[in-house]
Order: sequence, then structure tokens, then C-alpha cells
Amino acid sequence: MTKNPDCIFCKIVKKEISAEIIYEDDSLISFLDINPVNKGHILLIPKEHYRWMTDLPDTLLSKIYTKSKYLMEKIKTALKADFVVLSVVGIDVPHFHVHLLPRYNDDGLANFWPTKKYENDELKKYGDILRATLK
Ligand SMILES: [Zn+2]
Repeated sequence: MTKNPDCIFCKIVKKEISAEIIYEDDSLISFLDINPVNKGHILLIPKEHYRWMTDLPDTLLSKIYTKSKYLMEKIKTALKADFVVLSVVGIDVPHFHVHLLPRYNDDGLANFWPTKKYENDELKKYGDILRATLK
């Protein structure tokens, strides 16, 4: 399996760094984020080191999202969350991971990331740029 010796998540996979592991199989591992947005916030990662989502083989990526769905249902029940969200940020630790966050209607996180506004015809312009790449 591909590992990066300097990667903190690879060290968790190798059990060189302890983590509060909640799920593990032959290709994936999930553990509690030590800086949770809400308590019970977990990360799900492939055991192999991949930097970006686009680097993963489709079969492994599919497995991550299928397992995320399963874990989200379990988190919602176990923590009595109103809903659970999946987030991919990718700029904190350079080993692909998804965040699974228990959310509550009154947790105050409704707009927890900053947003920008489109000016004038920018909305259509960005739509045109992105649609053109799909042709
Ligand atoms: Zn890694």
C-alpha cells in the first residue's frame, strides 16, 4: 500500500499515532476528528495515501461514499443528530478524507463557511465556462 512517511493520516493507518478509531476494514479507516466542528465529527479515509479525490481509483472512491452513507445513518441515530453532513475540504491534511458531521438544527453552524457574491453576469459566465468543459 502506498504510504507517505510524513503524513499524519498514514501514521494513524499504521497505528504509529493513536486515534479514536470507530471503523476499519481492509481499505478504509474512520476515526474521530480531534478538532470537531460538533462532537462526534469523524473522518473517513482510504488506507492508501492519495492527495486529492481525483487521484483515487473509482472503485475505492465509490466505496468511500457508500461507507459514508452507512456511517452517516449510524451517527444520526447514535448521537440523536437532526442530520449528518458530508464535507470534503482537502486543504488541512494532504491525505484525501471526508468529514462526517453530526448537525443539529440549533447548532448555529448554518453558514459555517464564508461565501462570495456573483457580480453582474458572472453567474452565467461561470456556468458557461463549466458547461463548456463538459462537452
Ligand atoms: Zn497519507
